[in-house]
Amino acid sequence: MNYLIETIGCQMNMCESDVLSSVFSAYGASKVSSLSDADVAILNTCSVRAQAEQKAFSYLGRIKEFKQKNPSIKVVVIGCMAERLGSKIKKRFNSVDLIIGAKDIDNAALRIMDLFHMSNFAKKVNSEIKSEVTRYVTIMKGCDNYCSYCTVPFVRGKEISINFEKIVNKCSSMVKNGAREITLLGQNVNSYKCEDVNFAALIKKVAAIENLKRIRFMTNHPKDLSDDLIKIMATEPKVCSHIHLPMQSASDKILKAMNRKYSHEHYLKLIKKLRAAIPDISVTTDIIVGFPGETDEDFEDTLEAVKTIKFDGLYVFKYSPRPNTKAFGMIDDVPLQEKKRRHAVTLEEANKISIEIVSEIIGSTQQVLVEKIKNGIIKARTRGGRKVFAKGDKEEYLGKHINVNIKEAKVNSLFGSII
Ligand code: SAM
Ligand code: SF4
Repeated sequence: MNYLIETIGCQMNMCESDVLSSVFSAYGASKVSSLSDADVAILNTCSVRAQAEQKAFSYLGRIKEFKQKNPSIKVVVIGCMAERLGSKIKKRFNSVDLIIGAKDIDNAALRIMDLFHMSNFAKKVNSEIKSEVTRYVTIMKGCDNYCSYCTVPFVRGKEISINFEKIVNKCSSMVKNGAREITLLGQNVNSYKCEDVNFAALIKKVAAIENLKRIRFMTNHPKDLSDDLIKIMATEPKVCSHIHLPMQSASDKILKAMNRKYSHEHYLKLIKKLRAAIPDISVTTDIIVGFPGETDEDFEDTLEAVKTIKFDGLYVFKYSPRPNTKAFGMIDDVPLQEKKRRHAVTLEEANKISIEIVSEIIGSTQQVLVEKIKNGIIKARTRGGRKVFAKGDKEEYLGKHINVNIKEAKVNSLFGSII
């Protein structure tokens, strides 16, 4: 079976696509990069914003045209949008053969292989499969937080922490196969709890895996980020100095309406604690502009916070009303033009800050982990998560820490030479 997989949305979706790919390769299937080489086209979808759903619809439109000329190709839609709109998708696109919602994602690989009568085949030995240097491991499913704008609790269901032994075994097996950096994923990793193991304790267990060099994790929720976690970030050398801590807004009125359960003051205290404990920490965030009731003043508070906190990176989203959520019942009273303006102003400010931050990196030496080597260029990342490129073709660099002297810096990538 040759499969093409297209992923829309967050890291969680990337991780689930990655899991599918590793099961497929264990059964001898091959990943391809064009529709014309594929027996099956898989689309992993996202419902967080209306825009992500529109993107999926237009992709399905293109596949429908392709299938008219190539009727043997199978089309599978998986993930959050499949969960939310499964029957509508089927009605609109008769080209779709199989729909697998986010809540049934664990069975996706077998259900897709069943289309090709493949799941009866003997599985190859897992250890034959060489891993990428960086891998993602889901440690929690679903979410119980019900932020008033968010569809995730509805499409992914209740929060469940995966057993810590299973997580550690999975990470160990990835490391045995060549992984050197693992990102632990959950909608709110700070509320991880399995028996008496909380998130900080889980990190300790993962850090004990021999040959694993780096641990990252996301996403964090300011209401649950603990001192224990800050301590382990400061003391465990394998934990990278990066935290993604979504702020969403700096207006307490808006945070309350979003049901985020923290104040802006609490958020600022966390940033202070993190920076005191881990001086080289890189802090990134998510912001929503144009939430119902967000006045010019509320927005100015958020913009001011962006200026004073000086995030290393941020994602800014225009509020998009999602069915079933509490905010769907609120009046979406910020006009689209104004949402676009707030979005552009925030990005512009964030870019200015990024330029300031990266220009300070020029001339420094950074320890990076080499993730890929292609055409004589190594692609690596700093501990803070910035991409670094340098000339180098030695295969032995792959998965190793090396030092790079940074000569040039752009907002999203650094360029340097190996020392
Ligand atoms: N669980 C994570 C958290 O709490 O931050 C990430 C959830 S969501 C997949 C990623 C980001 O999308 C959120 O942090 C939020 O900024 C944004 N988002 C979620 N729902 C949205 C909506 N309805 N409109 C605009 N942005 C939204
Ligand atoms: Fe959505 Fe909030 Fe859960 Fe994140 S914590 S997934 S924003 S409900």
